[in-house]
Amino acid sequence: MTYLDGCALSRLHSLRSYDVVVIGAGAAGLMCAIEAGKRGRSVLVLERNEAVGKKIRISGGGRCNFTNIYTSPENFISGNRNFHKSALARYSPEDFVRLVRQHRIAYHEKKLGQLFCDGTSQQIINMLLKECASSGVEIRLSCSVTSIHQDERFRIATDTDDFECKSLVIASGGLSIPKIGATNFGYKIARQFGLKVTELRPALVALMLSGDEGRSLRELSGVSLEADVACRRVSFRENVLFTHRGLSGPAILQISSYWKPADAIVVTPRQYPRRFLQKWRELYGELPMEKWTVIPSDTEGYEKAEVTLGGIDTNELSSKTMEARSVPGLYFVGEVVDVTGHLGGFNFQWAWASGFVAGQFV
Ligand SMILES: Cc1cc2nc3c(=O)[nH]c(=O)nc-3n(C[C@H](O)[C@H](O)[C@H](O)COP(=O)(O)OP(=O)(O)OC[C@H]3O[C@@H](n4cnc5c(N)ncnc54)[C@H](O)[C@@H]3O)c2cc1C
Repeated sequence: MTYLDGCALSRLHSLRSYDVVVIGAGAAGLMCAIEAGKRGRSVLVLERNEAVGKKIRISGGGRCNFTNIYTSPENFISGNRNFHKSALARYSPEDFVRLVRQHRIAYHEKKLGQLFCDGTSQQIINMLLKECASSGVEIRLSCSVTSIHQDERFRIATDTDDFECKSLVIASGGLSIPKIGATNFGYKIARQFGLKVTELRPALVALMLSGDEGRSLRELSGVSLEADVACRRVSFRENVLFTHRGLSGPAILQISSYWKPADAIVVTPRQYPRRFLQKWRELYGELPMEKWTVIPSDTEGYEKAEVTLGGIDTNELSSKTMEARSVPGLYFVGEVVDVTGHLGGFNFQWAWASGFVAGQFV
C-alpha cells in the first residue's frame, strides 16, 4: 500500500487540464493568452509574482513606452536577422495602438516614434487584464513552476498544484532585474528539451569606467551631451550622460547591446556644454578633441540592464508560430527568445508580436 501525505493527495486531486498553459504573466505571455482565449482555447497563465506585469509597471519610467511607430526589423538584434520579420509584420505597432485606443488610454509620442502613456503603465496592465477576463483566461499568481515533463501532454508541477496541457508557452522573460522576479527558468526548460540557447549578456545597460580615466571622468558626473557613440561599426546619435560609475544615457544604453568586454567605444560630439569644457580643462589642462575613445571596464550588469541579449536560438523555433521545431506543442515568446530590441519601445513590440502569433496556433 502507498501512503500519500496531505500535499501529495491534494496534488492528485488537483491535476487540472487546459488546452494551453502560459508560464509568465508579462507582456508576451498575457498577449499570447488573450489571443488563444479569443480562439476558444481554455488557457491558464502561471505567474510566480503576486501581481502580473511587474516589468510593464516599472517600464518607461512608470509610463510604459509600449511601442515605437517606426518599428522595423533593423531595430532588433538576433543571431538570425530575418527571424523576427514574420511576427512583426503580422502584429504591427498600429495593431497595438488600436487596442490602446479601444481602452481609451491616452498616450503621446515622446520622441523618435516612442509612444508612452500620458498616465501610468498600470493602464496597460489593466487593459491586458480586462482582455484576459473577456477572453476567459485564468491567471494564477504567486505560483512558481518547478518542473515540466512531457508524455502525451505536458505536465507542469508548481509549488501549489499540478497542471497538464496540450500547448505549453514559455514566456518567462530574461535575466534582467532579478529583484522583480527575473529567472533563468526559460533557458533551463529549453536545455531540458535539447534546444540551444545563445550566449546571454546584459543589454540596454550603463557602462562602467575604471582606472585613472574612470576616476577623472567621474568628476563630470551629471553632465550630459549629445554625441555619436560608435562600437563594432554601429553608431547611435543621442544623449550621453556621465555618472559616478561611468557612462549612461540613451546613446550608451543603445551601444551597450553591441559592446563586448575590451571593446573601445568612440564618442564624437559636435558641441560641448560649458560645464563639460570647464571640467575637462581642469582635469586635462587642454580642450577636449571632437572625438575621444574609452574602453569601458564592464556593464552595470543584470541588476540594472533593461533586457537580456541572446536567448533561445531562433534556429530552434518556427518564425511563423514560435513553436519549437523538435518539440511539437512547446512555444517560446518574448524576451526569452534570441531577439532583442533597441531602446525605444521595440522590446514591448516584440513581446506583443511574438505573443500574438503564438496565440494563433496554440
Ligand atoms: C527598468 C526597465 C524598463 C523598461 N522599459 C521598457 C520600455 O519602456 N519599452 C520597452 O519596449 N521595453 C522596456 N523594457 C523591456 C521590457 O520590459 C521587456 O523586454 C518585456 O517586459 C519582456 O516581456 P516578457 O513578457 O518577455 O517578459 P517579462 O515581462 O519579464 O515577464 C516574464 C514573467 O515570467 C515570470 N516568471 C519567470 N519565471 C517563472 C516561473 N518559473 N514560474 C512562473 N512565472 C515565472 C516573471 O515573474 C515575469 O512576470 C524595460 C525593462 C526594464 C527592466
